[in-house]
Amino acid sequence: MSKIVINPIKFPGLEIKRPVIISGPCSAETEDQVLNTARALAAAGVKIFRAGIWKPRTRPGAFEGVGTVGLPWLKKVKEETGMYVGVEVATSHHVYEAIKHGVDMVWVGARTSANPFAVQEVADALKGVDIPVFVKNPVNPDLDLWIGALERINNAGIKQIAAIHRGFSTYDKSEFRNDPQWQIPIELHRRLPDLPIITDPSHIAGNRNLLAFVCQEAMDLSFDGLIIESHINPEKAWSDASQQVTPHDLKLMLDKLVLRKPKIGNKPRNTLDELRKEIDELDNKLLDVLKERMRISDAIGHYKRENNVTILQSRRYDEIMKDRCTRASERGLDSEFATKIFESIHEESISRQSDIMNKELKEGGQD
Ligand code: PEP
Ligand code: MN
Repeated sequence: MSKIVINPIKFPGLEIKRPVIISGPCSAETEDQVLNTARALAAAGVKIFRAGIWKPRTRPGAFEGVGTVGLPWLKKVKEETGMYVGVEVATSHHVYEAIKHGVDMVWVGARTSANPFAVQEVADALKGVDIPVFVKNPVNPDLDLWIGALERINNAGIKQIAAIHRGFSTYDKSEFRNDPQWQIPIELHRRLPDLPIITDPSHIAGNRNLLAFVCQEAMDLSFDGLIIESHINPEKAWSDASQQVTPHDLKLMLDKLVLRKPKIGNKPRNTLDELRKEIDELDNKLLDVLKERMRISDAIGHYKRENNVTILQSRRYDEIMKDRCTRASERGLDSEFATKIFESIHEESISRQSDIMNKELKEGGQD
């Protein structure tokens, strides 16, 4: 296991303030589109510009990026607006071209982070380069793989590193394009407290209507910045059209963000202490209720043992789950949350009943 050495991200002459905002189109399409988007973003106060030059697309035949011809457009963005520019790199060729054309930062995309060979190739090509490198989470929810990608980049001597949380791919359709699974970046922060974490609401949401909600959630969870796709004419974008916003709408959205204090420092202590006390008391009550529930479940275990009844009665289990979900919804609780809790309680009941049955009937069960 290597230790990650992290230096603060620096863009010469730019004061880094939370939240760091990075914005620009999903893809650089034409020189006009890049420059017009950049001019409007600069007017909106954005200082760091993103644009995909090489695009990893799910299916062949989709727009795969303009390639190296787009890099001089970014140079123009720098010269004209003073913004810092960044692109996604996935191969050593991308790295050499990007550096040659003076990009100020690069990021490793989600599909690349999932592949240690590709990350290593990018890391090797970055040796001796001192620019910020952002590493997106791999498409699959694997924190070690994400940390592994950060380590590979760091081992190549890159100290200005940061993570980008862009959500995780799932087979099930949900309101998000990529499931945020906030607990993963939260755990990343717990393990690497000095590593800046930027949220990518565009690829999490997949839809501009959800962007503000994801941005606010990221800020409420104290993440360090946002990378948001914007386009001068989003409906006509050649990639990710439904999730891009105009620079004008981006500014409106950012202006409405509520930035709460990252630490609870100067909240009136009494209120917080009182609320925490209430939580402690409720948790105690929950534990007492669980203790009582397990006592009854044990009694059922003894009954089943004496009457030679199997533990598993799946109809009863289905009924319980359905009933508890309905009751949870009636109380304004999320039914998925209720399912998780009751699955866990049920599992514990079964395990205790199996012990009571002398471990002979361990194939599963029901109270
Ligand atoms: C992108 O940022 O345009 C991109 C391709 O994102 P991701 O790697 O998160 O899919
Ligand atoms: Mn995109």
